[in-house]
Amino acid sequence: MASVTGPSPGKILLEVVTPDHLLLSKEVDYVSAPGSEGDFGVLPGHCHFLTTLRIGELQFRVGEKIEYMSVLWGFVEVTPTKVTVLAEVAEKAEDIDVDRAEAAVRRAEEQLERGGLPSEVEEARVSLEKARLRKKIADRHRQQGRQRVS
Ligand code: ATP
Repeated sequence: MASVTGPSPGKILLEVVTPDHLLLSKEVDYVSAPGSEGDFGVLPGHCHFLTTLRIGELQFRVGEKIEYMSVLWGFVEVTPTKVTVLAEVAEKAEDIDVDRAEAAVRRAEEQLERGGLPSEVEEARVSLEKARLRKKIADRHRQQGRQRVS
């Protein structure tokens, strides 16, 4: 459990915040985030920096366990002891509704096949990217669950 003085030695406090709530606050060993310029990894003691996020996968490791979240745009601030992700939208893998993501993939693919105004095509392209990401993260989470029980 994180304290007001910071995380335990050798750990990073990872906080993921969306406009309506604090989605995650957890001590972790490693974070990988989808920066606009590419994915980057953070270990404890990392130098300060601030960057923007693209649509992508946030991964964090606690011991041997790797967990996944989808993040859609926003900012990330890194300090030697803390990573703060301010995402426009984010979901934990276990909260993703796979049927909804699959339906969104189908809708976006149909829209792209139909074509349309440049703005409609761009919107469908972004929807497809988001929905495929959600599906990938949810599928991986389900696979992890199956590996744990087998
Ligand atoms: P859809 O087309 O299925 O409505 P969307 O891409 O338009 O999805 P967003 O605008 O990105 O949805 O997100 C709106 C809200 O819905 C956010 O709170 C987001 O976390 C949630 N959300 C979207 N898709 C899913 C999903 N597959 N599972 C769980 N939550 C989702």
